Amino acid sequence: MNYKTVCGLEIHTELLTETKIFCSCKTDFGAPPNTQCCEVCTGLPGTLPHVNKRVVEFAVRCGLALNCKITRITKFDRKNYFYPDLPKAYQISQLYLPICTDGYVEISGGKRIRIKELHMEEDAGKLFHDGKRTLIDYNRCGVPLLEIVTEPDINSADEAAEFARQLRDILRFCGISDCKMQEGSLRADVNVSVMPEGADKLGTRTEMKNINSFSAIQNAVNAEAKRQRELLESGQSVALETRRWDDRENTSYPMRKKEEAQHYKYFPEPDIPPIEISDELIESIKNTLPELPSAKKARYTGELGLSEYDADVICTDMAYIELFELTTSITSSPKDSANWIMGELMHHLSVTGTLPEEMSFRKESLAEIINLLSDNRITRETAKSLFEKVFFDNVIPEEYIKENDLFLQNNSKEIASAVREVLEANPKAVGEYLDGKEKAIGFLIGQSMKKLGGKASPNEVTKTIKEMIKDN
Ligand code: ADP
Ligand code: MG
Ligand code: ZN
Repeated sequence: MNYKTVCGLEIHTELLTETKIFCSCKTDFGAPPNTQCCEVCTGLPGTLPHVNKRVVEFAVRCGLALNCKITRITKFDRKNYFYPDLPKAYQISQLYLPICTDGYVEISGGKRIRIKELHMEEDAGKLFHDGKRTLIDYNRCGVPLLEIVTEPDINSADEAAEFARQLRDILRFCGISDCKMQEGSLRADVNVSVMPEGADKLGTRTEMKNINSFSAIQNAVNAEAKRQRELLESGQSVALETRRWDDRENTSYPMRKKEEAQHYKYFPEPDIPPIEISDELIESIKNTLPELPSAKKARYTGELGLSEYDADVICTDMAYIELFELTTSITSSPKDSANWIMGELMHHLSVTGTLPEEMSFRKESLAEIINLLSDNRITRETAKSLFEKVFFDNVIPEEYIKENDLFLQNNSKEIASAVREVLEANPKAVGEYLDGKEKAIGFLIGQSMKKLGGKASPNEVTKTIKEMIKDN
C-alpha cells in the first residue's frame, strides 16, 4: 500500500528582547550560570510578573509577517507541571486566546502551510547531568518564546525542512529572533503520522521534541514515517507518544505517552490582566515590517531581471540577500552580483564548509572587484584571485591591486608603443593577417601582451593592433 506522510511542526523561537518576558533580567546567551535571574523568574512566593511590552510587539510583528489574524484581547494561562527546570512548577503560556491565529507561509510551488496559532510563553531553565549530580542554570527561565504551530499540512521531509528554513528567514528578516539553532534559539517539535493514500482520516501521530537543525528535522520526518509505515504494513498500530530523536543514530526512541492539555490543568493566569491590542499598535507595527522573502523574490525576478533560479538561490539565506543588495547598489548590475555570489562565493563557502552567516570579509569588497573588472582595470583572472584574497584574508581590493601591481595598463601610449615594436618585429604575421588569415592576429596579441607584462586589457590591445595595421 502507498502511504502519505503527514507532518505538523511546533516551532519555539527565542525573541531578541534585551530582557525577560515577566521581569527585567537580561537574556544574554552564555552568561555564567544563575547570574541572570531574580525573585520573579525563579518563582519566589509573593512576586508578581510584569509583561514585557516588547514581547507583545514582537508577537504581533511575527503574526503579521505570517499572515495571521491578531487576537484583540489576548490572555495568558498557566500550564502546570513539576520539573526541576521550572521552579514555579507552572509555565506561563497561552492556551485559550493565543495572540495570533490562522496564518500561512507559502513554500515552493505556491503551496501554503497553514499556521494554526502563535503564542507567547516563557522558557524554562537548563539542566546539566554531570555524573551522579544534576546542575541547574536558571538564566534561561523566563526568556521570552514564541511558539508557532502549523496545521498538519506538511507532506514530506523536504517540505518540513523548507518550511522551517522559510520561517527562520522570516523571523530573521523581521528582527524577531536570531534563530541560532546551535544556541537553541530555534527548536522544533516534529509531529508525524502516515495514512493510506486517499484516506480521509489522519493517522495516529508521534511527536519528537526539541530538534535543533534543519537536517535533523528532515531526517526525523523520513525515519519516523518509515518506522510507522513498517508498523502498519506488519499489522501493528502506531502508539500516540512522545519520542526522543537521536540524530547521530538516525533513529527515535519512545520517551513517554503523549500528554494532553487536561494533564497540565491549564487555567487562566490570575496575576496578569488581559492585554488589549489596539488598531494603532497593529498599524504602527505593520509600517515597520521589512520586505519579506516572497516579495523579495518577486522584485528580483521583476525589477532586477534575475532568473527565477537565481532569485531562489539568493533568497536561501539572509546573508546572501544582504550581500546581493549591497553589491547591486554599488555596481548597478544585479546579474553580475548574483553571478559572483552564486559562483565564486558559494564555491569558497562550500569548499571550506563555511556557513553563509559566517562570511567575515568586508562586504563592499565584492562590489569593488566587480567594478574594477567592468571598468577594465583588472583582468577576469586577477578578479578571481583577488576575490579569493578577500574571502580568506579580507584584503581591500584597490590597495591589494596597487601593492601587487596588478592594475591593467590602460595607458594607450604604452600599449601603442608595445604593439608598434611587435608589429615591426613580425612582418610575416602582419602579412598573413593582411592576406586574410584571421588567426595570425592571435600571435600578435600574445606577443604584445607579453611585452606589456600581461597587464593590459586584451580588448584594448586587439583594437590597437587592428588600427595600426589598417593605418599602415
Ligand atoms: P497538542 O495540543 O496535542 O500539541 P495540536 O492539535 O496543538 O496538539 O497539534 C500539535 C501539532 O501536531 C500541530 O503542529 C499539528 O499540525 C500536528 N498534528 C496534529 N495531528 C497530527 C497528525 N495526525 N499527524 C501529524 N501531525 C499532526
Ligand atoms: Mg502542542
Ligand atoms: Zn528575573
